[in-house]
Amino acid sequence: MPHRKPNLPEKPCAACGRPFAWRKKWARDWEHVRYCSDACRTGRHARAVAEISMARVDRRVRRV
Ligand SMILES: [Zn+2]
Repeated sequence: MPHRKPNLPEKPCAACGRPFAWRKKWARDWEHVRYCSDACRTGRHARAVAEISMARVDRRVRRV
Protein backbone atom coordinates (compact mmCIF):
# COMPACT_ATOMS: atom_id res chain seq x y z
CA MET A 1 0.00 0.00 0.00
CA PRO A 2 1.30 3.45 -0.79
CA HIS A 3 1.89 5.83 2.01
CA ARG A 4 -0.92 8.24 2.65
CA LYS A 5 -0.90 11.55 4.35
CA PRO A 6 -2.50 11.36 7.75
CA ASN A 7 -6.07 12.48 7.61
CA LEU A 8 -5.64 15.90 9.14
CA PRO A 9 -8.46 18.39 9.29
CA GLU A 10 -8.39 21.23 6.83
CA LYS A 11 -10.13 24.53 6.46
CA PRO A 12 -9.92 27.51 4.15
CA CYS A 13 -7.80 30.46 5.14
CA ALA A 14 -9.91 33.49 6.00
CA ALA A 15 -7.50 35.74 4.14
CA CYS A 16 -6.37 33.98 0.99
CA GLY A 17 -9.08 31.33 0.83
CA ARG A 18 -6.71 28.45 0.27
CA PRO A 19 -7.22 25.34 2.38
CA PHE A 20 -4.60 24.65 4.99
CA ALA A 21 -4.11 21.64 7.16
CA TRP A 22 -4.03 21.21 10.89
CA ARG A 23 -0.66 21.74 12.49
CA LYS A 24 0.62 20.57 15.81
CA LYS A 25 1.22 24.10 17.02
CA TRP A 26 -2.49 24.73 16.59
CA ALA A 27 -3.51 21.65 18.56
CA ARG A 28 -4.93 23.74 21.38
CA ASP A 29 -6.79 26.36 19.38
CA TRP A 30 -7.46 24.88 15.95
CA GLU A 31 -11.04 26.12 16.17
CA HIS A 32 -9.80 29.67 16.42
CA VAL A 33 -7.15 29.45 13.74
CA ARG A 34 -8.36 31.31 10.69
CA TYR A 35 -5.26 31.99 8.66
CA CYS A 36 -2.77 29.73 6.94
CA SER A 37 0.24 31.87 7.74
CA ASP A 38 1.48 34.90 9.58
CA ALA A 39 1.36 36.87 6.36
CA CYS A 40 -2.35 36.19 6.07
CA ARG A 41 -2.95 36.79 9.75
CA THR A 42 -1.34 40.20 9.56
CA GLY A 43 -3.27 40.86 6.38
CA ARG A 44 -0.28 41.87 4.34
CA HIS A 45 -1.30 40.38 1.01
CA ALA A 46 -4.97 39.96 1.84
CA ARG A 47 -5.85 43.57 2.43
CA ALA A 48 -7.64 43.88 -0.88
CA VAL A 49 -9.77 40.82 -0.12
CA ALA A 50 -10.58 42.11 3.34
CA GLU A 51 -11.61 45.48 1.99
CA ILE A 52 -13.94 43.89 -0.51
CA SER A 53 -15.69 41.80 2.12
CA MET A 54 -15.82 44.72 4.54
CA ALA A 55 -17.37 46.90 1.88
CA ARG A 56 -20.07 44.31 1.39
CA VAL A 57 -20.78 44.16 5.11
CA ASP A 58 -20.76 47.94 5.30
CA ARG A 59 -23.45 48.17 2.70
CA ARG A 60 -25.66 45.77 4.65
CA VAL A 61 -24.97 47.34 8.03
CA ARG A 62 -25.83 50.84 6.90
CA ARG A 63 -28.96 52.24 8.38
CA VAL A 64 -31.95 51.10 6.44
ZN1 LIG B 1 -3.82 32.34 3.77
